[in-house]
Amino acid sequence: MEKNSIKFAKKRKDARKEARSIEVNKNDEIKLENMIKNNSNKNSNREADIFIDPLELDLLYVPKNCAEQVEQFAKYVWESGWKAMPHHALPAWLRDNDFLLKGHRPPLPSVKACFKSIFRIHTETGNIWSHFIGAICVCITSYFYLFKPHYETKLQEIFVFGTFFFGAFACLICSALFHTFYCYSPKVCKIFNKIDYCGISILIMASFVPWLYYAFYCDATAKLTYMILIIVLGIACIIVSLWDKFSMPEFRAMRALIFMSLAFSGLIPAVHYLTTSGSFKAFNFGAFGWLIACAILYVIGASLYATRIPERLFPGKFDIWFQSHQIFHVFVVIAVYVHLYGITKLASYRLTIGDCLTAHIETDFSFEF
Ligand SMILES: [Zn+2]
Repeated sequence: MEKNSIKFAKKRKDARKEARSIEVNKNDEIKLENMIKNNSNKNSNREADIFIDPLELDLLYVPKNCAEQVEQFAKYVWESGWKAMPHHALPAWLRDNDFLLKGHRPPLPSVKACFKSIFRIHTETGNIWSHFIGAICVCITSYFYLFKPHYETKLQEIFVFGTFFFGAFACLICSALFHTFYCYSPKVCKIFNKIDYCGISILIMASFVPWLYYAFYCDATAKLTYMILIIVLGIACIIVSLWDKFSMPEFRAMRALIFMSLAFSGLIPAVHYLTTSGSFKAFNFGAFGWLIACAILYVIGASLYATRIPERLFPGKFDIWFQSHQIFHVFVVIAVYVHLYGITKLASYRLTIGDCLTAHIETDFSFEF
């Protein structure tokens, strides 16, 4: 009889223990559900700041059934789409600017997901749209320049302006594509990075073509020499940028320096024009003022790009908007239009004074700029 009552008491103790453990599990489940709900609510308000740190989950929640919890978490992430991540949680190949602390896209191994990400707010949104909108604007502008010109244009003129528009469009669209798709995979990231750098070299080369064509309109030797020079230097730049390590963060300053050197090789024909035509003609007819404005824009943009200012000064404050790369992008688009304005002025001056045989009237010509 006494033996039976001891057995019964032990059974009761075990049953109570089991009930308590079930209750603990249930409480933990409720806790997790609340966390997910809270994060989901945050998601609708602040899309870029909704990353659920797995470490945080681990600390707050001791899983009783690990596989089940992982499955539940994965299901939640899958259903609600990808979450922006802090910089420290990114895989090494996606880490570029460590002054942008949060709001990064995770790896998105799907073309559709990468494309859809352009409509979300994250660290690349401004970079993508600044050059995508720029590329569309260049397309529209080129239509009016090449197919609906204000004055009669020769095939050669269409070609030189067409080269510039092609260069500008290629640079902007390659850049927009790189910023959209680089989070696909390490391999795709490398390929698009190289395409992006090639686009910059193409834009610099193409910018020289119309200026050299009109500035040395009657000097075929100088025109050809400088065009060959810029093409050779541009191709050298493309070859360097195809080097695998060129896109690594530690080569940021070197990249800025190489592209600036390519752009500043234009100083050679500029000094030639200045010495043969004089400063009055260079500034009033040779579009020198606009070229200098362009150079200033490129120098400021490239310096911000290389130094990562302003986010370096205020880490975490420019994660989504007004980071150095976006400012650099905007400066590139503005520089394209400043250059276009300059070469348009130079072209209209050149076309107004007639062909090379009547060039002597240049000196007496008064032109409104
Ligand atoms: Zn860029």
